[in-house]
Formats: sequence, structure tokens, C-alpha cells
Amino acid sequence: MANVADTKLYDILGVPPGASENELKKAYRKLAKEYHPDKNPNAGDKFKEISFAYEVLSNPEKRELYDRYGEQGLREGSGGGSGMDDIFSHIFGGGLFSFMGNQNRSRNGRRRGEDMMHPLKVSLEDLYNGKTTKLQLSKNVLCSACSGQGGKTGAVQKCSACRGRGVRIMIRQLAPGMVQQMQSVCSDCNGEGEVINEKDRCKKCEGKKVIKEVKILEVHVDKGMKHGQRITFTGEADQAPGVEPGDIVLLLQEKEHEVFQRDGNDLHMTHKIGLVEALCGFQFTFKHLDARQIVVKYPPGKVIEPGCVRVVRGEGMPQYRNPFEKGDLYIKFDVQFPENNWISPEKLSELEDLLPARPEVPSVIGDTEEVDLQEFDSTRGPAGGQRREAYNDSSDEESSHHGPGVQCAHQ
Ligand SMILES: [Zn+2]
Ligand SMILES: [Zn+2]
Repeated sequence: MANVADTKLYDILGVPPGASENELKKAYRKLAKEYHPDKNPNAGDKFKEISFAYEVLSNPEKRELYDRYGEQGLREGSGGGSGMDDIFSHIFGGGLFSFMGNQNRSRNGRRRGEDMMHPLKVSLEDLYNGKTTKLQLSKNVLCSACSGQGGKTGAVQKCSACRGRGVRIMIRQLAPGMVQQMQSVCSDCNGEGEVINEKDRCKKCEGKKVIKEVKILEVHVDKGMKHGQRITFTGEADQAPGVEPGDIVLLLQEKEHEVFQRDGNDLHMTHKIGLVEALCGFQFTFKHLDARQIVVKYPPGKVIEPGCVRVVRGEGMPQYRNPFEKGDLYIKFDVQFPENNWISPEKLSELEDLLPARPEVPSVIGDTEEVDLQEFDSTRGPAGGQRREAYNDSSDEESSHHGPGVQCAHQ
């Protein structure tokens, strides 16, 4: 990782910095479909950004420049092709992504370093009860021995090979009148733009100006925080000479829960009951997110229809910053009916006498035809459903939007 980690282009595609070519391609195809101006005219420049990010990351040379030197590396290595500046300032220039803090000038005029984003997985229990956790991470800090200079005062000199730019341009003649311009990282200064004599180099950081340090952050996950919420540690990101450090930003990732699904401050759960409970009342107990045992009672005489939902007020998630106020808990009832032939025919007619009466069957006039009512598995869908599945390539969700006629074209 370079001193100042830049992952913006990866973030645009929603992939981690180490993503394989295949992962990049998949992510790009999915997003490009989603944000294509034909489909999504309101997405604005999102499509351009996605295309740009992919253009860079799918090119091994550009990707390496970007991985090592971030935006700066790209800017200098790109040769400034037409239209590039536009999208550059669009993606990196603040505005849209200003929350990332990238390249913003801080109040005192110093360049501001990249923010470092880390996902933080949390359980629904953690978000319900709140939690303090320690997070260990390694970051660059200015070398204390040389005060971030890399050597004795005056020892740092501009690299003469690249005139301080960190990259060198090579012109290669391919054929008469045809030249190829190539940019490469300066080998004399390793792209730093400056050199320090071996003997003047700081022994502690070996002239790198920064050293790795392990930092432990105490993270407070507050009650009621949500998936995607950010916890910011101002100025805790990598340090670099002449740069105001960016923030460490933790992005909460709510883990799936076995029992509850969350919807804002409300919780949803499903509970199975038998036919007898659906008709004759019931009581059941479940463990809440704070380990309380909750008893739910439903009196005899009240009926639960299959698939119906009942609500328990005030047993949802606590509100963020107002944790004594809570959302609601919705319980959906899955009524389990008995198996075929669960009761003898005699008992069945006794039961029928107890149940609400059948509707009167109207008398039929004319010819009738008797048909068979068969078992049917609705999860398998209608005939032809399997064929649709067979063409559903996981990397290409678009096929499901086409009618069957389009799929036939693949054959
Ligand atoms: Zn040093
Ligand atoms: Zn150089």
C-alpha cells in the first residue's frame, strides 16, 4: 500500500482493492447495466464514473500506477488524454466525493490525506445493546527520528532523473513518423520525486519518512446504529509529510440474524404454530436481543389465520441517540396444518360437527365432468420454469428480464 491509500476507484465498483480481474469485470457489468443512461437517465454521471474506474482498473499498467501512487500517479501517468481531465476532476475533485475528504485543502492550506475506510461487522445484538470494541490497525506515522524528513536537514534533493515528477516519459519510435509515448515510474527515486544520499538517510525509517505503527482504536457502537452508518475517527488515518492526515472511517455492516430481520427501527420475525394454536389460543416464549425471555400470549377464542401478522408495540430496535424509544416487533405466523390422514374418518366427522358449517353446494344442471386434484409443488413453478433457470447465468442477471423469445436466441 502506498503511504496515502487511495481506493476510490475500487469503491466506485464496490470491490476490495485486491479484487481479481474477474471480480472487477463482474462488478463493472452489473453496475454498468444498472446505471446505463438508457435504463437509468437520472443516475447522472454515475455511469461515467463506473466506466472510468473500470477503464483504469482493467488496465494492468494503469492499475499499478493507481495502486502505488493513487490519483496523482494516474494524473501524471495518463498523459492527459482528451476528456480525462473532466472525469478526473469529477471523480477526484471534491464535489461528489467530498465526504471522502480526498485531495481537499484543509483550512491551513495543507493537502489532506486519504480517509481510510474499514468495514466493521456487527451483530444485531450489538446494535440493540450497544457495544464498545477495540480495533487494532496498522498505520503510517511520521518518523520521529527525522521528523518526517527522511534524513538530515538539507539531505533531501529533488530527483534529477525525473526532475522531481516521480515519472519519466519515454518516446519510442515504432515506425517513421509514428511514436509511442510511454510513462514509467522513475527508477532513480522510485516515484518519490526526490532522493536522499545513502549516508544521510535516516536509520530508523530508511529515508521513507514514515514508519508503520500499530494503533488501537476504541470503537463505541451506540444503541440503534444502522447498517451502513459511519463511525469517524478524525485525523487518525495514515500520516505523510506535508499532508494533514485523513480520517479513519468505520462502516458498520450488520450481520444477518437467525430470528429477526430489521427494517429501520422495527423488527420482524416468523413464528410457527399448529392448527390447534391457531384456533384455540397459545403462549410461546422467545429470547430477545438483550437476552430477555419474552412471553407472548394469545387468548382462546381469537383466531390466527395462516400468514397473518401481529405486532408487539415497543419491542423493536432502540432509536439511535434516543434508546428508550423503541420500534415495534412484527410477528408473522406460519400455521402448520396436520398431515394427510392424521385422524380417523369417525373422528373427522366428529370434528366437522364442531367446525363452522360447510356452505351449501348449489345443485348442478346439465352434464358434469369430474377431475382429479393433484399435489403441486409451487416452488418448481409452471412448466417451462426449469428451462428459464437453465439460462440464468449468475453473472448476468439481465437474462431474467428478457422474455423467452430472447433466450431462445442463445440456442
Ligand atoms: Zn526517519
Ligand atoms: Zn526520479
